[in-house]
Amino acid sequence: MNRSLVLVVNCGSSSLKLAIVEPESGDRFVEALAERLFTAQAGMTIHFREAGKTVIRLPDADHAQAFEVFAAHLSTEKEMNSRIIAVSHRVVHGGEYFRCPVLVDGDVLQKIDACSGLAPLHNPANLQGIHAAIRHFPELPHVAVFDTAFHQTLPETAYVYAIPYELYEKHQLRRYGFHGTSHNYLMLEAARKLGRPADQLNLLTLHLGNGCSACAIRQGRSVDTTMGLTPLEGLVMGTRSGDLDPGLILHLLEHMDFSPKEVDELLNRRSGLLGLSGLSNDMRTLAQAAQSGNRQARLAIEVFCFRLAKTIAALSVSCSPLDALVFSGGIGENSVQIRQRTLTWLAPLGFAVDEQKNSVHGKDSNGRISPMSTPDVRVIPTDEEVMLARGAASLIAGESP
Ligand code: AMP
Repeated sequence: MNRSLVLVVNCGSSSLKLAIVEPESGDRFVEALAERLFTAQAGMTIHFREAGKTVIRLPDADHAQAFEVFAAHLSTEKEMNSRIIAVSHRVVHGGEYFRCPVLVDGDVLQKIDACSGLAPLHNPANLQGIHAAIRHFPELPHVAVFDTAFHQTLPETAYVYAIPYELYEKHQLRRYGFHGTSHNYLMLEAARKLGRPADQLNLLTLHLGNGCSACAIRQGRSVDTTMGLTPLEGLVMGTRSGDLDPGLILHLLEHMDFSPKEVDELLNRRSGLLGLSGLSNDMRTLAQAAQSGNRQARLAIEVFCFRLAKTIAALSVSCSPLDALVFSGGIGENSVQIRQRTLTWLAPLGFAVDEQKNSVHGKDSNGRISPMSTPDVRVIPTDEEVMLARGAASLIAGESP
């Protein structure tokens, strides 16, 4: 039987990721990635499951031009085109407006635009993608799925900063949290693996990719998370510093002649694993360098794990008694060493690792990598695209989220 498909659109600041996904099975029929947009090196790879890969150079292209090239390739696939029932857009910041996927209309576009001040790199790019897709597929429903939505259940105690309250009331300066689509997916997958309803589970989910965040989930609701007003807060990441003393920023501005733009660049693009190691933001590169005796790489990995363990301990207050700790994202799913080191730091809280199960990423034990007598720790691969596809499909079908 030919089932319905959803076109999933994910616009980064200089990239465009597209996929045609079957919501139920999660099967991908087409995947495309345009990178380095706005530069002379811009290019796109389109991978049709049946017909194979095409690589296209797109010098200086923007999101709209890349989308046009993708749509032109897609137009020859008449049968597949006819099965697409919706376009689902990842939108980074939904502020306090959105708690679940919504149909895109004038009001939604205006609200996404209103949140651009809070996500200046992401929301304008997301809007570009939405406009380009609407131009090409005006007859299809377009759905927006927000990175912040899953965290809209955070209690006030977890989302306010300890600064004058009127800054929240008048300017919405609060913690929002990101990677919500991934944490939501991990919750549902953990529930499936544990064989229990999500709303009866207490979980701690770790999305550890180039960006990293952790989320405390209590009975199916996000109750604390590490990213804040922006994705800069929290864990050590590939190029982002995560938490630091705000006094350090004042010092850079007042005593070291940094401009706000330079501080932004320093903390978002030159810090984290890259800043500490002076070598790379990529954990695989650092793991190899550390093994060859590179001290800075070793330090970067050690700081990453220590800060992660400290954060897990802190988040535990919101989700005890814990049913499972979940590792995910490129690092969480693949790095035996990072999981081992982090869990070793957590031994005082009773966590332990089964070395054999960890070495095969829990693949033979339904994801479980901890001994049975200790807290349940799982490795679960994330899949944001399938959540985006499902979010749109259930909205179209009129199901409640
Ligand atoms: P993501 O953003 O989820 O694609 O994750 C990217 C991060 O995952 C990069 O830091 C990669 O180096 C890391 N990663 C992928 N595979 C491995 C691996 N086998 N061991 C360690 N890190 C990995």
